[in-house]
Amino acid sequence: MGHQPDYRCSLCSKERARADLLAKKVSFITLGARGKTVQSRTAGWICVHCLADGQDEHWNIEKYDSPGMRNAEEVAAEAALKRRQKRTDEVEETA
Ligand SMILES: [Zn+2]
Repeated sequence: MGHQPDYRCSLCSKERARADLLAKKVSFITLGARGKTVQSRTAGWICVHCLADGQDEHWNIEKYDSPGMRNAEEVAAEAALKRRQKRTDEVEETA
C-alpha cells in the first residue's frame, strides 16, 4: 500500500481534489529587468473554493507598481507631476 498524499487546503483545512488546489509560492527576486530569484518557497496549498470566497489575502492584491517595469519617460513625467502638485500644495497652504 503506497503513501496517499494528503491534499488539504492550507486555509480551510479541507481535503480537496488535486485539481482544486493551487500551490501558493513566494519568491524573493532582485530588482531590475533581469531579476534573479534569491529564494522561492511554497507557502501553502490553496483550494479554488477559498480563492472564490476571497479567503486568501494575496489573491486579489493590486499589481505592484514596480518602478523597474516602467520606462524612463514615464518616471520623469511622474516626477514632474509630483513637483507641480507639491508647488500647488505649498501655495494652498500659504493662502
Ligand atoms: Zn480552502
